[in-house]
Amino acid sequence: MDALEIKVKDTFGTDPGHVTNEQIYVALLELVKEEAEKKVTTEGKKKLYYISAEFLIGKLLSNNLINLGLYDEVEACLQKYGKTMAEIETIEPEPSLGNGGLGRLAACFLDSIATLGLNGDGVGLNYHFGLFKQVFENNLQQETPNPWIENKNWLTKTKRTYDIEFGGLTLTSCMYDIDVVGYMGRTTKLHLFDIDSVDESLVKEGIDFDKTDIAKNLTLFLYPDDSDEDGRILRVYQQYFMVSNAAHLILDEALERGSNLHDLADYATIQINDTHPSMVIPELIRLLMQKGIRMEEAIEIVTKTCAYTNHTILAEALEKWPIHYLQKAVPQLLPIIYELNNKVNDTFHDPSVAIIDAEDRVHMAHMDIHYGYSVNGVAYLHTEILKNSELNNFYKIYPEKFNNKTNGITFRRWLLHCNHPLADLLTELIGDGYKKDATELEKLSAYADDTAVLEKLLAVKQGKKEELASYLKQTQNIAINPDSVFDIQIKRLHEYKRQQMNALYVIDKYFEIKEGKLPKRPITVIFGAKAAPAYVIAKDIIHVILCLQEIIANDPEVSPYLSVVMVENYNVTLAEKLIPAADIHEQISLASKEASGTSNMKFMLNGAIAIGTEDGANVEMHEFVGDNNIYIFGESSDEVIAHYEKADYVSRDYYEKDPAIKRAIDFLISDTMLAVGQKENLERLYHELLNKDWFMTLPDFEDYKATKERIYADYEDRMTWAKKMLINISKAGFFSSDRTIAQYNEDIWHLS
Ligand SMILES: *Cc1c(COP(=O)(O)O)cnc(C)c1O
Repeated sequence: MDALEIKVKDTFGTDPGHVTNEQIYVALLELVKEEAEKKVTTEGKKKLYYISAEFLIGKLLSNNLINLGLYDEVEACLQKYGKTMAEIETIEPEPSLGNGGLGRLAACFLDSIATLGLNGDGVGLNYHFGLFKQVFENNLQQETPNPWIENKNWLTKTKRTYDIEFGGLTLTSCMYDIDVVGYMGRTTKLHLFDIDSVDESLVKEGIDFDKTDIAKNLTLFLYPDDSDEDGRILRVYQQYFMVSNAAHLILDEALERGSNLHDLADYATIQINDTHPSMVIPELIRLLMQKGIRMEEAIEIVTKTCAYTNHTILAEALEKWPIHYLQKAVPQLLPIIYELNNKVNDTFHDPSVAIIDAEDRVHMAHMDIHYGYSVNGVAYLHTEILKNSELNNFYKIYPEKFNNKTNGITFRRWLLHCNHPLADLLTELIGDGYKKDATELEKLSAYADDTAVLEKLLAVKQGKKEELASYLKQTQNIAINPDSVFDIQIKRLHEYKRQQMNALYVIDKYFEIKEGKLPKRPITVIFGAKAAPAYVIAKDIIHVILCLQEIIANDPEVSPYLSVVMVENYNVTLAEKLIPAADIHEQISLASKEASGTSNMKFMLNGAIAIGTEDGANVEMHEFVGDNNIYIFGESSDEVIAHYEKADYVSRDYYEKDPAIKRAIDFLISDTMLAVGQKENLERLYHELLNKDWFMTLPDFEDYKATKERIYADYEDRMTWAKKMLINISKAGFFSSDRTIAQYNEDIWHLS
């Protein structure tokens, strides 16, 4: 009997043919947990703690089966009983513990840490309702809770608990673990802290709840609405809860491994993923002082233990907490933060590098840079911008702390799991060494002119496009034409990512079709994006896209040639369906603004071709594949930075001089749009683009349009296109998170 048959027999007393899919899912969940338990976890003197507010891990069942080497056996067993893994997978809810790229990066990193057999764990929070679930009503985004913790789930409650003190309130934590199963090897853990007193019934209407009842609301949501002060202070409570638990855990484990705490840096290293976990610095200092270490020494120890990853150069995203928030939530940290600030001011006498500014706000990133031993950016260009402009004052003080770690993705999830036909084709061509060593994908380039191979590659893509079409039909009742070109933009909604530019292009294409200028092949433009609940303009952009979807679908003149689809509740599960099916992917952020991007890497690995700006990791992709295999357009980051410095961008000039831009923007408030949309939203976006357009949509529009025409035309030469696909895949090896994590270890962590 197979492992699954035995498990089903033990649990339900029968065979897999006589139980429901839900029961099979439960049996597999238990099976995977048992198998993971048997795997070795690396131990060693020094351990990494990767602390992150988000871990966007995605569904775990199939991925864990693949990594355990059990997938094929289970799939074959299910087939005997007329079932498939694809059916069973649909039963599993996706854990909603992240928002976007940053959280997905943390998840890919854990996979690589486990796969490479490094001694390191993830630490975060167990949000009951996650981010939020996006639903569309009247062409608008609405938010609802996204409960994901079912009776049977991946969490294991541990015995570890700590009393965490806040101003006037003490809460007892509990720690849950999720096994992180590395590929064909070892496991590690994701530790998620929670409290037993969370009360899910606190949430009444949509995602509204009493933000002041900390004992009941602390771990309800990731990123609770911060448009009011109570919401912002709740975020401080959450962050402190996360890092205080982490700090206790780190010290306890270091002591267990033989540290005397004076030598903590030999036993632990902490990666602070963006600024959310920054309070771990003063908290660790506080706990070391409680254990009798003098402040001066405690500061020194912590500075040798903490490393910081910067994820953004958007100033508004670098957290600055008003002192009175900290005074309320975590008064015990203030004396330490004041001392850290005083030391900085005494040494540097430069307000631009102070921790506390003139408005009494604590700059979390500044604390990380002064009191950590490493500062890294997440792609070459991003790190250069940090060093040369955004954080230049810090770089001048601490040049040795700055380093680049270009992001990566785990090829297990983003190829082996999400694209079986492609993985099989690659294995047939180059063997399966690439599964462990991604650089072996280079071997594929030997087939760049092999017509039979190129035909197969096109067939794999076509199969995935058909799969996506039937999936969208089944799950979202959306019909798309698998013979059209699939042009996909999926990522959080933000003006800097410029979904609005893509939408303006769609409007332009709509007019062209109306005028009889028909595309050679139908075009399907697919969007997926959540907007932060309080980000009004982002929600207006979603509204425009949904209105376009409706208008075009109902216009028989246009719909045979163009369709627009906005998938609901974009998440990892959808990404796994969309990415293998993409022909073209949009990486069109305003140059200098996208730190790295990682969806660009996932698409590249799956043989989609990028249209993009010279931004984030696109720069490195461009270098690897060369001009012929990527479509680069738009202003350079230097030009963009100069516009901001000179404040010389006036969007209305572009509107007035380019008739295509004028026509597209005017359409936003046309009768056609007003018939399906909301006046307030449409007018607001219209005025925003015309009078402000902070992320410079319009200057790149003309070049964007010309480049789109070129990419669609090139798509028609199917063999040349297939060669581009092949070259992209063959050059994707660099973007494996195994490479990224090996570099973190080599340059920053030094785990033995
Ligand atoms: C990879 C990924 C992201 C990051 O996308 P970018 O385009 O790099 O911003 C966001 N969300 C999900 C679900 C992802 O899988």
